[in-house]
This record gives sequence, C-alpha cells and structure tokens, in this order.
Amino acid sequence: MYICKSRNHVWSNKEDARKCCNGYQRVVVFGNEIPDGTTNIQVDEKTGLRYARIWQKDAEKISPKML
Ligand SMILES: [Zn+2]
Repeated sequence: MYICKSRNHVWSNKEDARKCCNGYQRVVVFGNEIPDGTTNIQVDEKTGLRYARIWQKDAEKISPKML
C-alpha cells in the first residue's frame, strides 16, 4: 500500500499515490472521453455505459473566470 502526499489516502498503485493530493484530481469520464491507454475501464451493469476514473491536473479544471 502507498500513502499519498497529504497522508490522507491510501492506494494500492504507486503511481496513483504519487498523483493524489499532488496537483491532480480524480475524475470520472464516460464513453469517448476515456483517454487511450486507460486500464481501469468499468462498465455500468444497468446502462452498459463505459466509464473510468482518471487523474486530471487541477489546473485543467480551473476556468479562466476563477483565476
Ligand atoms: Zn490524497
């Protein structure tokens, strides 16, 4: 197990732990928004919709209005 930078979260994956609380946010993306190379794609049982949790840099989520 790996502990993230803030020591508030534990991950089984070293790369996840490195990004958590370290300039990245965990976000859920659906269907075509899922980047190539994503390995943890899930399928919703009811809808058949594909989704995945990915890391997104905090800066990419900040709109110009917030700066
Ligand atoms: Zn964290």
